[in-house]
Amino acid sequence: MSSSALKNPMESSAAEEFSLADFLFSDPDSTDPLVPPAAFTEWRAAASWATSLYEPSLHGPAVPRTRLDCDGVVRSVINLSSYNYLGLAHHPEVIAAAQAALQTHGLGACGSPMLSGMSDLHRRLEQRLATLLGTESAMLFSSGFGGAIGALAGLLRKGDVAVVDAKAHVSLIDGVRLSGAALRMFAHSNAADLDAVLERGKGKRQLVVLEGIYSMDGDMAPLPALLAVAEQHGVGVLLDEAHSFLAAGEHGRGAAEHCGVEGRIGLRYGTFSKALASVGGFVSGRRETIDYLRFYASAYAFSAALPPAIVAGMLAGLDVIERDPSIRTRLWSNADYFRAGVRGLGIDTGESTTFVVPLIIGSDRRALYDLCREMREKGLFLAPVDYPAVPEDQVRFRASVTAAHTRADLDAALTIIEDTIVRRRKAAR
Ligand code: PMP
Repeated sequence: MSSSALKNPMESSAAEEFSLADFLFSDPDSTDPLVPPAAFTEWRAAASWATSLYEPSLHGPAVPRTRLDCDGVVRSVINLSSYNYLGLAHHPEVIAAAQAALQTHGLGACGSPMLSGMSDLHRRLEQRLATLLGTESAMLFSSGFGGAIGALAGLLRKGDVAVVDAKAHVSLIDGVRLSGAALRMFAHSNAADLDAVLERGKGKRQLVVLEGIYSMDGDMAPLPALLAVAEQHGVGVLLDEAHSFLAAGEHGRGAAEHCGVEGRIGLRYGTFSKALASVGGFVSGRRETIDYLRFYASAYAFSAALPPAIVAGMLAGLDVIERDPSIRTRLWSNADYFRAGVRGLGIDTGESTTFVVPLIIGSDRRALYDLCREMREKGLFLAPVDYPAVPEDQVRFRASVTAAHTRADLDAALTIIEDTIVRRRKAAR
């Protein structure tokens, strides 16, 4: 419990001093885990100016121009919040394939893949992923998050050590925790620190866990340098390609392809919620690894398989991007254009070199939420990211640029950003 949780969150000025980092404790007065800490409930009400901006309802697809419920008013917005990187969320071929599979295969898989949920479509997608990534085998998970947890908890055991990048996604951390292995972090993308942490674990079974493109900062891992260190220690690597799968690399084989290190990654993990604009996840690697995981990744063996229509939509999405790689080129040129535009406005985009573009505001959390509301009113949907998801002095908006955005969409977004973030900054001077 942080000391700030002892203050009274009902005072609106104090509400700003609290964050979700403050309520993750066991309340000594509590006798019932179903009752959250009283301070949390009070804070939730006192901080509604911030928390009411979460879980906004889209009234349309996750495409660049859509409709969003803003405090009860449904507005047309430019959407820079959805991960629809390749613009497949509402692609006519994707929708048609999913509709056709609804007719042939029905709504749900109605069972775990182990017992009854596997279908011909699931098998085709597994095969397609293995072929695309040039690995022996691949398996699907019905949740991306579940895939990360399932893979790590399925492979690591008590006594093992997971050496994880300090900016790794919470799904990877949770997977390690669930496994019972020791969790050791190394400084973000820092090969020397990775070396030092691996040295400490000498003699133990270790696994290095990296991401291709980091989800909050949009920087790509320096894979050649990090892999060289892991290899010196004889330690394997799990690479999370959630944001890079299909979006990075000449053929969409992710950051590993982009960096020319594909054959050196022991296990590739990715999600379908980003470039494939869908849901679910996968791991891809050696046949023996995948075969073992089918039995020991509980999130696979004991969870219903993906709905077949979703799988059919994703197979069609793969057809679209394999037939027209210019979509990927457009994604990167849109990203470069938007990032340059944001930087041109004097806004800090951190280390981003990709289509994940943070607009770093600093430590003024009140400003983050005020600006968020103002942007939505002016027709821009940009997601706020607050502490503890990012460091306290780096709260931000995170833009997800897609291939489907037109330059007019991006220009209109930049105009609203200038009219909100830049205007507020000037007024404060
Ligand atoms: N890994 C990373 C790096 C992510 O950013 C995310 C989600 N944003 C996940 C895993 C989990 O994927 P999903 O949302 O598809 O469950």
